[in-house]
Amino acid sequence: MTCPICNDEKAISQPDGSRIECSCQLIARFKSYLGEWNRSGVQTVSLDLKTYARNLLFEDFFANRFNRLVASFLAQSFVGPKFSHKAVSGHDIIQAYFSNGGNVSELQTVPFLIINLGIDPPNSFYSQTLEAFLEERSRNAKCFTWVNSRYDVTSQTFSKIYQPELAAYLTAPMMKEVEGSALPQPRMRTDGTPVIRFQRIPKNLKI
Ligand SMILES: [Zn+2]
Repeated sequence: MTCPICNDEKAISQPDGSRIECSCQLIARFKSYLGEWNRSGVQTVSLDLKTYARNLLFEDFFANRFNRLVASFLAQSFVGPKFSHKAVSGHDIIQAYFSNGGNVSELQTVPFLIINLGIDPPNSFYSQTLEAFLEERSRNAKCFTWVNSRYDVTSQTFSKIYQPELAAYLTAPMMKEVEGSALPQPRMRTDGTPVIRFQRIPKNLKI
C-alpha cells in the first residue's frame, strides 16, 4: 500500500525546503523490530522492562496470550533499550550444536531468546544439551531467556520429551562459587531466599 502522507518518498518537504522523515518510516522500523511478533497484537498495558528482561518460565500458557506478552514487551522496549531477539524450539538448539554449519554461538549470545518447549520430538539429548546451552547463556549478563513450555515442566509429559533433569535444572536455584567451599552454593537474595534460575510466571498473570 502506498503511503498516503509521503507517497512512498519516505520524507516530507517542509516550507523552508528541508525534508523530514515521514511517520511511515518509524512504523516500518517498529514492524521490522517486532518481526514475527508484529502479528500478535500489542497490548497497551505497560510492562516494567526490568521485571521482564530476565529469565522467565512460562508453563501451560495460552499461545495467543504468550505471543501478545512478547509483542507488548518488545513494543515497549522499542523506544528504550531494544533487544535483538530470536525464538527457537529445543530441537533447533540441538540442531545448532550437531548439524553442519549450525550456529550455536549466535543463539548463545542473542540478548533475548525465547525457547518454545513441548513441541519437540522426544530425544535423550535434551537435558544435557539444553543445560549446557543455558549455563553458557547465563554467563553473559546481557542475555535473558524466556522458556515457554506447553506443559508444566514438572509434568510427566514434559519429562517424557526432555527428561526430568531438565525440569529440575529450570526450577533450581542459581549457583555460585564460594571461596573456601568446594561445592557451589545457591545464590541468595537479600531477604534470604534463593535466586531461582527461571522465575516461574503464574498462569493467571493478567495480560
Ligand atoms: Zn510515508
